[in-house]
Amino acid sequence: MKAKILETENVTVSFDGFKAINQLNFSMDVGELRVVIGPNGAGKTTFLDVITGKVQPTVGRVLFKGKNLRSLSEHQIARLGIGRKFQTPRIYLNLTPRENLEITSNRHKNVFATLFKASQPAEKNYIKGLLETVGLTPKADIPAALLSHGEKQRLEIGMLVAQSPDLLLVDEPVAGLTDEETHNIGELLLTLAQNHSILVIEHDMEFVRQIARQVTVLHEGSVLCEGNFSEIQNDPRVIEVYLGQQQE
Ligand code: ADP
Ligand code: MG
Repeated sequence: MKAKILETENVTVSFDGFKAINQLNFSMDVGELRVVIGPNGAGKTTFLDVITGKVQPTVGRVLFKGKNLRSLSEHQIARLGIGRKFQTPRIYLNLTPRENLEITSNRHKNVFATLFKASQPAEKNYIKGLLETVGLTPKADIPAALLSHGEKQRLEIGMLVAQSPDLLLVDEPVAGLTDEETHNIGELLLTLAQNHSILVIEHDMEFVRQIARQVTVLHEGSVLCEGNFSEIQNDPRVIEVYLGQQQE
């Protein structure tokens, strides 16, 4: 059996009695790319909030690499190796993509590495490679404010990777993007999935089709079903709660 990177056991999150997450049992393996879909209000964002420690489970537990995250702060959980990309990019607009990546990767190194940064060719090479991976080499040295929305999303995914988390959480990365940019983000996540564990929350079904291996469908705070894209697509319960709603 493969090692688990993330498990939730019977997790419930109540807001004044309303169960945004309801007895949720979920697990994913080390190295997996998992997509979680579900209609609006299904509990997808709350699911990420409970993994990252932004909200505490009312009942149940969240395990990261087998360790119970209960009562750890968001900061402590991030330090353990869970990185999160929010829906809206949070990059430094007045800095270049290269500088954005340098800052993020330095933050997690020791003082020596930061002080002697100028003499750190390994670091420079790493950033160069990362710019290549996210497709921003031609725009590496212009202010990030001048990037398109899709390029900003790719930069922020790069910043997430620069923190070297063991698990990447990505919330709706293609909302509001053109088809071409959506495809680019998909290719980027597939590339990153070769050596990262990634959990993607998504709404856009074309995008899910492009990147999906194992898909989990959330509905009313619980797992409705899991399977590959075509199993999910043809499941009558999914059509009813999710695809049906999209076509309205
Ligand atoms: P999704 O991301 O799948 O659209 P959310 O996790 O944002 O769903 O929300 C799930 C449900 O929980 C929604 O009905 C939402 O209104 C409710 N909810 C989320 N956060 C809070 C909160 N802080 N207080 C009260 N209700 C909340
Ligand atoms: Mg959401």
